[in-house]
Amino acid sequence: MFSKILVANRGEIALRVIRASREMGIASVAVYSDADAHAPHVREADEAVHIGPPPSSESYLRGDRIIEAAKSVGAQAIHPGYGFLSEREWFARAVRDAGLVFIGPPAEAIAAMGSKTAARQLVTAAKVPVVPGTTEALRDADEAKEIAERFGYPVLLKAAAGGGGKGMRVVREPGEMQASLDTARREAKNAFGDDAVYVEKYIVGPRHVEIQVLGDQHGTMLSLNERECSVQRRHQKMIEEAPSVAVTPEIRRAMGETAVRAASAAGYYNAGTCEFLLDRDGKFYFLEMNTRLQVEHPVTELVTGIDIVQWQIRIAAGEKLPFRQQDIVPRGWAIECRITSEDSANGFLPSTGRISYLHLPSGPGVRWDGGIEIGSEIGLFYDPMLAKLIVHAPTREAAIERMHRALLELTIEGVESSRDFHLRVMEDADFRAGAIEIQWLERRLESLTHAQPPESTMRTAAIVAALIADHDRRAPRRANGTGSAHGAHTPTANGDAWTRLGRLEGLR
Ligand code: ADP
Repeated sequence: MFSKILVANRGEIALRVIRASREMGIASVAVYSDADAHAPHVREADEAVHIGPPPSSESYLRGDRIIEAAKSVGAQAIHPGYGFLSEREWFARAVRDAGLVFIGPPAEAIAAMGSKTAARQLVTAAKVPVVPGTTEALRDADEAKEIAERFGYPVLLKAAAGGGGKGMRVVREPGEMQASLDTARREAKNAFGDDAVYVEKYIVGPRHVEIQVLGDQHGTMLSLNERECSVQRRHQKMIEEAPSVAVTPEIRRAMGETAVRAASAAGYYNAGTCEFLLDRDGKFYFLEMNTRLQVEHPVTELVTGIDIVQWQIRIAAGEKLPFRQQDIVPRGWAIECRITSEDSANGFLPSTGRISYLHLPSGPGVRWDGGIEIGSEIGLFYDPMLAKLIVHAPTREAAIERMHRALLELTIEGVESSRDFHLRVMEDADFRAGAIEIQWLERRLESLTHAQPPESTMRTAAIVAALIADHDRRAPRRANGTGSAHGAHTPTANGDAWTRLGRLEGLR
């Protein structure tokens, strides 16, 4: 086993890896930019190496400096987290060439799944169903229209190198094709330096269901079952859960076997995720494989009891998985909310500032994977995700109640956050019924962000108003020692206010 690993990331995921390492008796090394000199991950790691100025292109994306840092402190392996360098084939290769271990899949598997078109070809050969569409980059709008006629509108233009929902355009009729193709290409070129775009049939009303796979270097590849990630805004996940209300034991088995087949076709090992669209008839289609640890991995950890990050490290060190497929027995229900510094009441505009107050939820079944503390400066250099709030309970209903309770306990001051948005979703009848699919949130966004504050916040406001009214009533008496307008009022400490509070709570 390694004695020291370097964590090539920041924020909550860097802390997640540092915690996993510490429990395994492995020393951890953080890297940081100027903007993160006082960040929690720097303090929590056993050592830290400065790698450059705030822009990630000059720090967290500088593979050369990161490898140099690892060598200078004598780390044997590098964990890339997610984002940044985690899915760059050249980085995985450079780490290996430097005589270090990349904690993730082999560079060849990253390459095989790196392009959506190449991945579609690869998995189709392994009899994995993909969304109907092409596997070659489009020449021009005429070709795109021809293909769209064959599949029927609407179609989706997608960047071959895509990620994070970028370079994607829905086309509903031929007249939109040229403009959409131009936009998708431009976006793809800007985001990935590659303007190859292809066509998929746009599936209406599916769920996004994905399978976590975990494989060792000795030929074992397992499915850790599904996560439901249909609550999305602009093709980006906001809330994830495990299991999925739409997945029967038959679908689970079939999807799990399909994911294992797709991963094996790429010569995969370590942790990875196969994403699928699941339609209303229970048919599923492979979308892509993410060759890294996912943001939403904790929900799988909570229901399977398997520490995915620790297994990533063990697998990278050459250990064998000690469990078999039949040993994976999910327990209960887990939900994750991504807490971002975005103003949900204002179109999810990024909010910047200094965290001036922070109260974290705790209690039974609550997990906080965060990267912030009081004093943290939230700027625009990095992703707006501040933390993930994850809960685990015996049933979905209980998990929703638990998440609701945990969100009520959460206070973040100094920046706007997505907390209220999540509270509203937990109170939403469709969400509670599990009646969600990938377009659900976009349809409901207006009412989930612009309506009245969430019911629970209204309740808190009513309680505060009652306490203030009660306090005001007493204040004159305290000030001048005489009775107030409420002569009949008996000053029984705070009894009155607490009775009101109890009554208001009872209104719920
Ligand atoms: P990215 O790599 O940019 O995240 P994905 O291929 O993973 O792109 O797709 C992101 C999201 O876009 C999916 O979760 C789904 O909501 C939506 N999507 C992708 N492909 C289709 C499709 N063919 N039909 C309908 N929705 C799709």
